[in-house]
Amino acid sequence: MFNAKSVALGAEPSAIRQLFAYGLQRKAEIGEDKVFDYSLGNPNVPSPAEVTEKLKQLTTQDPVSVHGYTPATGNPTVREQVAASLERRFGGDVTADDLFMTDGASTSVSMCFRAMVTPGATDEIIVPVPYFPEYRTWGEANGGKIVEVPSRSDNFQLDIDAIDGAINDHTAAVIINSPNNPVGVVYTKNTLEALAEVLRRASEKYCHPIYLISDEPYRELVFGDHEVSWVPDIYDDTVVCYSWSKSLSLPGERIGYVYVPKKASNAHELFTALAGAARALGFVCASATYQQVVGACADVMPDIKPYERNRARLMKILDDCGYEYIEPQGAFYLWMRALEDDAQAFSDKAKEHELLLVPSDSFGVGGWVRLGYCVAEKTIVNSEQAFHDLYNDYNK
Ligand code: PLP
Repeated sequence: MFNAKSVALGAEPSAIRQLFAYGLQRKAEIGEDKVFDYSLGNPNVPSPAEVTEKLKQLTTQDPVSVHGYTPATGNPTVREQVAASLERRFGGDVTADDLFMTDGASTSVSMCFRAMVTPGATDEIIVPVPYFPEYRTWGEANGGKIVEVPSRSDNFQLDIDAIDGAINDHTAAVIINSPNNPVGVVYTKNTLEALAEVLRRASEKYCHPIYLISDEPYRELVFGDHEVSWVPDIYDDTVVCYSWSKSLSLPGERIGYVYVPKKASNAHELFTALAGAARALGFVCASATYQQVVGACADVMPDIKPYERNRARLMKILDDCGYEYIEPQGAFYLWMRALEDDAQAFSDKAKEHELLLVPSDSFGVGGWVRLGYCVAEKTIVNSEQAFHDLYNDYNK
């Protein structure tokens, strides 16, 4: 009676959401402070004051002009503000016409997939593993084939030879995400340059551009000396998908963009295809209010100190217990090795100690769990004993 694929997708459980829902229920049963919920990537740091200021200011303006539809590509003034900010930060030649305002990175990536693949033509999108699970949903829903390529097992940087080996005539795009969800790794400039070299050679060999989709909702969340490269400087055929969900702590407000650099191959046609993709997806325009907010806050940087503190506290606890993990370089996730091969079983065991850890199977690999440490500091402090108890369950 209904579209079978939609029914299957709607019924398919998301391990992250299931764990989050379980956490809410468990908190109601035993108390907020007794459940240590590391399941979700919902920023716990309040939005910067500039966001609230702009929102207040908008309430004093003519509501009709504030809340009306904007052009599908976005409010022209906001696109100019964002373009000017990108130029200030990264140089190059960025203008409003290169930007399409969206309702977050989800829509940005989904639009790219739809614009770049032809359904039925077996067009492929290469996805380094582990990966944000919705990439598969969006890739397949838009008619593409997702090709998983494992990352390096020692440090979870991209495995350039493996990506090279996976490219063929059907490859339309490669998607990367740095700082990375779920691992917290930031790809080094050398790694990205090596990837660019492979993509340039392959584009020439197969006589069509292979686009690099750089999904960067965590761009500003980076720790220590790690640097997030501006990917369009490294590879011309890059398309940037951005979102203010994490940087300005606005995940529920739905606001982001797609940036197509002028130097990208067939940039104009690609932009037109993105506009068509947005239309086909039923996307009318990004939130008019929040477009204005991010336009005004385009240069505002997030306060990452709370994440730095949480990261340090969590690492100390895990070190004291003896867990193995990848030291987070960016975003707000920590990738920890499960104490048994079956990550789901380990996550279930963790639940017995009220620790909610997402099993890595959700991200395309076994044997690990993801900890989202964008939580209240006291959650981390109070969870110390639970981490010890969980460790001791496996090391009696
Ligand atoms: N891409 C990655 C890697 C993410 O982690 C997320 C959200 O967690 C998204 C895209 C979607 O973000 P948005 O809220 O901007 O749609």
